[in-house]
Amino acid sequence: MKKALFPGSFDPPSLGHLDIIRRGASLVDELIVAVAVHPDKQALFSTEQKMSFLTTLTREIPNVTLLSFEGLVVDFCREHHIQFLLRGLRAFSDFEYEFRMALANRKLTQIETLFLMADPNLAHISSSLIRDIASHDCRLHDFLPAAIEEQVYTAIRRKKNRG
Ligand code: ADP
Repeated sequence: MKKALFPGSFDPPSLGHLDIIRRGASLVDELIVAVAVHPDKQALFSTEQKMSFLTTLTREIPNVTLLSFEGLVVDFCREHHIQFLLRGLRAFSDFEYEFRMALANRKLTQIETLFLMADPNLAHISSSLIRDIASHDCRLHDFLPAAIEEQVYTAIRRKKNRG
């Protein structure tokens, strides 16, 4: 049974993430999508909110399991008997970081990282861009799946107004 892990901050999950999840899930028996929890980093959305967005987005993909984790990704993989890491590659800017992480993770546990090239129509999307655009009162239809656009937009606006 081929099991892969797609780890990420998903702050919030975007159309780009969903594309990688759909394409990744078609390549393996089980795809675990896991929200990485970094207690020392300030995220806009809580882990519970991110999990709720991802639940809505992946409802119709039968071989996707949602989890969250804290700590090293390779320890999580060992614990859950996961053989592959899945990552998306947008532009050259992603490459250097991803290359280093893939080599480090392979050194630590022999785990292979599978990279999917971003869809050219979605390659400009990032969670930080989404947070920035919404905080300037601009809707997010081209960046977020329709099922969560209203919820994410409203949450970002509310957080911004609260200061
Ligand atoms: P991290 O903090 O782990 O980079 P992100 O949520 O930013 O978490 O990204 C998780 C994964 O999703 C990364 O592999 C990233 O390259 C990929 N990704 C993010 N946005 C896109 C996109 N628009 N197209 C393809 N892959 C993407």
